[in-house]
Amino acid sequence: MPQPGFDLEAAAETIRTWLDEAERVLITAGAGLSAAAGYDYGDEDRFRELFPALHRLGLRSRYLVGVPLPPELWWGYWAVHIDDIRFSPEPNPLYQRLRSLVGDKDHWVMTSNVDALFARGGFDPDRIFTPQGDYGRYQCTTPCTPTTFDSRPLVAQLLAAYDPATGAVTGPLPSCPNCDGEVEINVRIGPEFVDDPYLPSSRRLQDWLVTAADARLLILEFGAGFNTPGVIRWPGENLTRRIPHAGLIRINPTHPETPADLTGRTLSVPAEADQLLDRLTVPHPAPDPTAAS
Ligand SMILES: [Zn+2]
Repeated sequence: MPQPGFDLEAAAETIRTWLDEAERVLITAGAGLSAAAGYDYGDEDRFRELFPALHRLGLRSRYLVGVPLPPELWWGYWAVHIDDIRFSPEPNPLYQRLRSLVGDKDHWVMTSNVDALFARGGFDPDRIFTPQGDYGRYQCTTPCTPTTFDSRPLVAQLLAAYDPATGAVTGPLPSCPNCDGEVEINVRIGPEFVDDPYLPSSRRLQDWLVTAADARLLILEFGAGFNTPGVIRWPGENLTRRIPHAGLIRINPTHPETPADLTGRTLSVPAEADQLLDRLTVPHPAPDPTAAS
C-alpha cells in the first residue's frame, strides 16, 4: 500500500497532467520496478522453488553476490536464474502497461536492471540504455577481449547439464571462446566489467538529451534506491537541475524523497509502481451524455 495518508489518486492526476505537457519522457528504473513486476530478488518462496539445493545449503535469496560457491553450483545458479528472469518469452504485464503509458511520446529508457524486461514489454531496444550490463551476454573474466558473447546458447547448454537435486552442472564449465580462461555474465560486478555493448546506446541517449535542452522533459523514475544511486537516482536529479524545463517524478515506496533545490519540479510518490499504474492506466470514465450541462 502507499504510505498512509498519501493521496495516490491526486498524485496520479498530477502525473497525467505532467505527462500531457511533456514533449519527451525519460523512464529511469532500478530493481524496485522489476520487483513490483514480480521479479523480486529477495523473494524467499520463489528462491526455494527454483533453487532447492541452494536452499538446503542455507541460502535464502538471489542476492548471492559475494557468496562463495563451488563453480558447478555457481553456474547452476546462473543458468536457472537467467533462464527465469531474462529468457522467459512472455512480456511482463507491468512493463507493457508502462509502455502504453508513454504511448507516442518521444521517449527513452535508462535502467540499472539487466533483465531486458523493458524490451520484452514493447520498448524499442534501440532506445534502452543499460549501464549495468545484460544477462543476455557473457564476457571473459580477465578480460582478454572487449568482445562479449550471447549467453542464450551458454544457458541452454548449462541447463542441459544441470541437476536440480544437487543444484550443480556437470561436464565442462564455461570458458572464454578467445583465451579459454574463466568467463562471467556481462553485468557490472567488478572493474573487469566490459561495457562496450552499452556504449552506442549511451551515446544515442546523450545525443537525445542534448537536443532535449529546451524541451519539456519528464523523468519518470521507478524503484531506484540507494544500492547504486550513482547509476539512476543521482543522474536523474542532475539532469533535472541541468535542463530548465525538466521535471522528475520519483516513484519509490521506501525512498521517495526528492532534493530541496528542485522543489516545484519534482513529485514524490511513496508507492509501488504497480499501485500507481493501476491508477494511471485505468481509462477515465466516459462523460455521462445524460448529465445536464
Ligand atoms: Zn579471454
